[in-house]
Amino acid sequence: MIDSKVIIVGGGPAGSTCAWKLKQNNIPTLILDKKTFPRNKICAGWITQKVLKDLGLEKIEYPHQMLTFSRLNYHIFGRKIPVRTCQYAIRRFEFDHWLIKRSGVHVIHHPVRHIRKEDDGFIIDNTYRCKFLVGAGGTNCRVYGTFFSGINPRKKKYLVITMEEEFKYDYHDPECHLWFFDNKLKGYSWYVPKGNGYLNVGIGGKLTGLKDTEESIYDHWDRLVQKLEDLSLVKNRMFKPKGCGYYIREKVKAVRIGNAFIVGDAAGLATLDMGEGIGPAVQSGIRAAEAIISGKPYSIKSIGRYSAVDILFPWLKTSF
Ligand SMILES: Cc1cc2nc3c(=O)[nH]c(=O)nc-3n(C[C@H](O)[C@H](O)[C@H](O)COP(=O)(O)OP(=O)(O)OC[C@H]3O[C@@H](n4cnc5c(N)ncnc54)[C@H](O)[C@@H]3O)c2cc1C
Repeated sequence: MIDSKVIIVGGGPAGSTCAWKLKQNNIPTLILDKKTFPRNKICAGWITQKVLKDLGLEKIEYPHQMLTFSRLNYHIFGRKIPVRTCQYAIRRFEFDHWLIKRSGVHVIHHPVRHIRKEDDGFIIDNTYRCKFLVGAGGTNCRVYGTFFSGINPRKKKYLVITMEEEFKYDYHDPECHLWFFDNKLKGYSWYVPKGNGYLNVGIGGKLTGLKDTEESIYDHWDRLVQKLEDLSLVKNRMFKPKGCGYYIREKVKAVRIGNAFIVGDAAGLATLDMGEGIGPAVQSGIRAAEAIISGKPYSIKSIGRYSAVDILFPWLKTSF
């Protein structure tokens, strides 16, 4: 049996940030992840100034490319609305790997299947034992499924369906574009340039909205590809998109049961308006670590439910 005071299931931004804080306080911690890093994660990779601040990260320290957007181009019902702001684009393949390395915590490649509570702790797959268990395994997290799904059942109306592709492309427009509500999509599509000549394009919308209009996400994707072609943003490309779903923020009854915690997508914390999940993952990871370190309650109440304030007034929010 391998013992550690804390075991974190999942090494995405929620898990690695929690690990980083615990390690700073010398709390013995292990991360189990079903994938080996660096690994791909479907995500547009847009991050706010607040994410950098919470991570204690100066842009200059980051060893990979991080593009800065001094404005976002919103397109609503065919009208372009440029919004002055300060946001960043990273590649999750690089960012998550860097975060996990920076945490200094040992990562074991292990797909968690079975967890049981025993005496004063938890046993994972009859191999790992811990006192504190942090569920950071994303939407299908086993910690959520084992201990929290009964008390926090997820409602279909908060499920967002997505399709996206990130690829090398000699793009000529280095700005970020977001198209809202095209063809009655309850969501938006995006064009997000990255460093080193990568581009990420994608689309996400509420499942219930798709059902109402009897359109599939594939129909919306085909229209996005046509739009990119018409606007000469991406020409003559045979796309091979990937899709997945995740939950945006609803009322979460419990994020801690005894010494089991859920953070990030495992708790369904992505914002209601933009589906921004990296910021809430980082913030919840920090709060869970602080609760373990100090013995104080773990609460997600102060984690914002919307992203608009951060986009429109990034300096205001991050100066809190
Ligand atoms: C298409 C799309 C675009 C998005 N764009 C943005 C964006 O631009 N900006 C933004 O802020 N948010 C965005 N999001 C949301 C964001 O990606 C997530 O909210 C964020 O990744 C949540 O981080 P996390 O650490 O909770 O989970 P994840 O990043 O999903 O990490 C979970 C980890 O757990 C591991 N794991 C899962 N199951 C197990 C298991 N059984 N055993 C061991 N390990 C396991 C996985 O391998 C993974 O490494 C987007 C989401 C999608 C789907």
